[in-house]
Amino acid sequence: MTILDIAELGNPILRCQAQSIEKVREPKILQLIDDLIATVELNNGVGIAAPQVSASYRLFIVASRPSIRYPQAPKMNPTAMINPTIISRSNEIVKDWEGCLSIPGLRGLVPRDRAIEVEYTTITGDRVRKIFTDFIARIFQHELDHLDGIVFLDRLESNQDLFTEAEYQKRI
Ligand code: ZN
Repeated sequence: MTILDIAELGNPILRCQAQSIEKVREPKILQLIDDLIATVELNNGVGIAAPQVSASYRLFIVASRPSIRYPQAPKMNPTAMINPTIISRSNEIVKDWEGCLSIPGLRGLVPRDRAIEVEYTTITGDRVRKIFTDFIARIFQHELDHLDGIVFLDRLESNQDLFTEAEYQKRI
């Protein structure tokens, strides 16, 4: 496993539309999944999308677990989600705090759908349909945005919803 370099805001890869994965079981894709999991864990993230390590594929990892960055996160085994899509949305919008490994030092209060029905391909090549709510739904929406060149800053209702990490730690 290799810890990969994370592209940060300003890197044009974060603004690209990522390409679909045709062969899930290809060695380079399986290697990328292993490396993404190692990278998100080392960085105490709860999710990471392939474009964040400069691999412009429709693939992300949801790896929710309590950490220094997200003490309240529910525990979930790191899960690779390939060619993910949202099938339906609750249309119940909730605002909560997000950070991003590509935008170090900032936290934003981001509006997202509270519940979503999604479809994705698993590491074994099966297409599955699931319902995610709350924090996991938030991670999914955040990571899916990365595949379309969108970052959480683009979703803020106001710049007043943006805090530095230090002020967030002090106040929230
Ligand atoms: Zn992010």
